[in-house]
Amino acid sequence: MSTCRMSALTPTEGWFSLQGRRPTPAHRRLLLLRVRQLEALVQDVVKASSWWERHGVDCAILALSVLALPAGFLCLRSEHVLVFAVGVTILGVCHYTLTVKGSHLATHGALTESKRWSKIWLLFFVEVCTAFTAEYAKYGHVKMHHAYTNVVGLGDSSTWRLPGLNRYVYMFLAPLMIPVITPLVAVERLRKVEGWTAVRTLGLMALGLYGHYWLLLNLSGFKSPSSALACMFLTRALLAHPYLHVNIFQHIGLPMFSRDHKPLRIHMMSLGVLNLPRLPVLDWAFGHSLISCHVEHHLFPRLSDNMCLKVKPVVSRFLHEKQLPYNEDSYLARLRLFLSRYEEFMVQAPPITELVGVQ
Ligand SMILES: [Zn+2]
Repeated sequence: MSTCRMSALTPTEGWFSLQGRRPTPAHRRLLLLRVRQLEALVQDVVKASSWWERHGVDCAILALSVLALPAGFLCLRSEHVLVFAVGVTILGVCHYTLTVKGSHLATHGALTESKRWSKIWLLFFVEVCTAFTAEYAKYGHVKMHHAYTNVVGLGDSSTWRLPGLNRYVYMFLAPLMIPVITPLVAVERLRKVEGWTAVRTLGLMALGLYGHYWLLLNLSGFKSPSSALACMFLTRALLAHPYLHVNIFQHIGLPMFSRDHKPLRIHMMSLGVLNLPRLPVLDWAFGHSLISCHVEHHLFPRLSDNMCLKVKPVVSRFLHEKQLPYNEDSYLARLRLFLSRYEEFMVQAPPITELVGVQ
């Protein structure tokens, strides 16, 4: 067995301390006990929280994003460049709030405790707003990425790698293609779903895309189809750069595991996930679970953004006290790191980390 290659982390009770020794059942039991202790602490916070804290805050943010849309479309009628820019900003931020925060929470069923409403929100946010397929979003994100975080060949974020692209093209130009690529990938994925599901997805995607185009022509007063399409592209690409960056910054470059020797869940998440600091626009549009509480989100994926923020002090204190890793880094530091080590992170096959003594 090799030792873990990530040297910046401190020795932990479940990791370096057993270096060079065979894993023991006692050690495994200790880690499972840690998981139960952490779950009990988080459960206490959840039980003490009101509906408003558990779901209301995030539902209110999403409702506000829908309610702000008419103002955004109307601003685009203006000849004044500043008012027009305000319109683009409102529509762009609302678009990302509905498609990233809304879709992400809906994919995890974190918006409501009702199964029926969970399904309705999933279709609305993922298919109508994002123009993607609900089935594949759930499969790719929940069943693969969350269940096998950083396990090579399963949940390793490899869909984000485009090794043929130069680092600057990937980091600064490729994000602009996200609004165009998303529905195309969705259509390609539809080959693998049942006929009725494919018809439903195509119908809902068309409703969302055509609805957006129709509102630009009829509410914003665009005179030509090409100017309406250009505006649609502009708002849908407004936060595409941080969207792509956040998706790679929080997993790639951290320890990667093999299918046969994947660690216990608490190690998989504490080693393979990273939190960014709070960033107001991204907190609002992407949600805390994707920005400053990504570790908490991977440990407790059914919690809403507001609850992830609420349990964060409990989780971080617990992991620190038990000397388990808790990765944090700033957006700019990650950007610099990815630009300088792009070849290693995004082009070459990721090196496998084996945690001695914890398999
Ligand atoms: Zn998630």
